[in-house]
Amino acid sequence: MPQIKTEGYTFKAINYNETSQIIRLFSSDFGIISILVRGALKSNKSNENFDIFSKTSFVLYEPHSGEIYKYKESTLLQSGIDFSKNIKTFYRISLMFKILSGILPERIPAPEIYALLDKSLSKIRKYVTDDSNKLYVLYFLFNLLVIEGYELNYDSCGKCKKKFSKIAFYAPKESVLLCESCNSYVDNIKLNAESVKLIKYITKGVFGNLNKTAFIKNENVVWKVLSSSYSTNFDLDIDKFGEFVK
Ligand SMILES: [Zn+2]
Repeated sequence: MPQIKTEGYTFKAINYNETSQIIRLFSSDFGIISILVRGALKSNKSNENFDIFSKTSFVLYEPHSGEIYKYKESTLLQSGIDFSKNIKTFYRISLMFKILSGILPERIPAPEIYALLDKSLSKIRKYVTDDSNKLYVLYFLFNLLVIEGYELNYDSCGKCKKKFSKIAFYAPKESVLLCESCNSYVDNIKLNAESVKLIKYITKGVFGNLNKTAFIKNENVVWKVLSSSYSTNFDLDIDKFGEFVK
């Protein structure tokens, strides 16, 4: 059987046939895949390698029929257990994987998204018990939108190209920011200059430029932009995670 090698993050494990597990992995080379680990629930295999949110390097047998890879061996790169040290952090990461499994097709490589996830998680790992790790969750969520083709122009109106002065409106259906005269839909989200700037800095990951007071004042509306974008573009309801991110 042909073998492959890849690294990835486990985001789900389902018990199967008393001693086996099927693991859902977001892998660097093959996107989301399922792996059958025979005997995973016996003590002779290193369970930490398949713990939720662990980053592990795998050697696998390619499926000759069906979709499930078979496990050969693995090496733990970074344990996922750290992320359980803080319940909010745990839920924040759960949200990231919920979104990935909601939008990524099975067995289609997504290297750019993997790199974004890997970068975001390694930052969050450094600040597991620090509430400000939410900035990296927001960074991940906005940049995932960018990769998926929903990048915003933060400086000028998406319709008439006029530079924004004080306020802008986020239109989730067209995925643009509009000026006051181009905005025609009452449900579009009104943003002040401060919140537009925050979204810009969060997306670019320049947290040094971020004004903390402005962030606290505007984080609800920043979340509203994300939530409406994910619901409009991917039909995903991320609002129930809102209390863990805010
Ligand atoms: Zn305009």
